[in-house]
Amino acid sequence: MLEKINGVIIKTHDYSETHKIITIFSKKIGKFTALARGAKKPKSRMAALTQPFIYGEFFVYISKGLSTLQQGDVVNSFRAIREDIIKTAYAAYIAELTDKLLDTGSPEYYLYEQFYKTLDWISENEDLDIPVIMYELKLYKKAGFAPFVDYCVNCREDNRPYSFSVQEGGLLCDKCKSSTDPYAVRLPDGVAKLLYMLVHVGIEQVGNIAVKRENKELLRKLLDSYYDRYGGYYLKSRKVLNQLHLLK
Ligand SMILES: [Zn+2]
Repeated sequence: MLEKINGVIIKTHDYSETHKIITIFSKKIGKFTALARGAKKPKSRMAALTQPFIYGEFFVYISKGLSTLQQGDVVNSFRAIREDIIKTAYAAYIAELTDKLLDTGSPEYYLYEQFYKTLDWISENEDLDIPVIMYELKLYKKAGFAPFVDYCVNCREDNRPYSFSVQEGGLLCDKCKSSTDPYAVRLPDGVAKLLYMLVHVGIEQVGNIAVKRENKELLRKLLDSYYDRYGGYYLKSRKVLNQLHLLK
């Protein structure tokens, strides 16, 4: 059945001398892969349409086996991302995470909307860490392993101050910290509340959130160890992103 599907290309890889397999995150049917014939011929229309982060209108022959991309139009090429090494690294990171953590074949309207808006944010802005963390946390939630940041994950009471425990999967009060995970990392004032917001509100609220540089770095570090424990899949794009951070 031939379908018109709007979506963003989150992964491409070569398939034979001339074809490519592309993975698209779409609003209509969620994540799917399709064969793009002739996409490796450098000057073909198909080559232009099948670049990473292209938002397009795709005509796809959907089948139970491998679907086939017939044709399509580029709606937004996110040129600003493509032309900037830092933006490319951030976009590649959310695309790879999405590819690794999301199952194929079912629509995810909220997540798709958050993904698209995050990509748009990356394209238009310079401050990228917090929006990316927000999207990441939405994805962890969908994948079933978001950290618990509403109150203490152990006693379920609201006892500040909090530490963050990778092992226990969320916030710990001081009492529970000493009994369950003494290595939990103490969060500076306001960071527990910030985490709560990042988990629960969408990218459209990001304009209201100002975060100190050292807190951004702390959150990044905590989320990296958290992902290593629960996410599992190796992320090539994270390595690139961390190398760029070291250069800053
Ligand atoms: Zn507790």
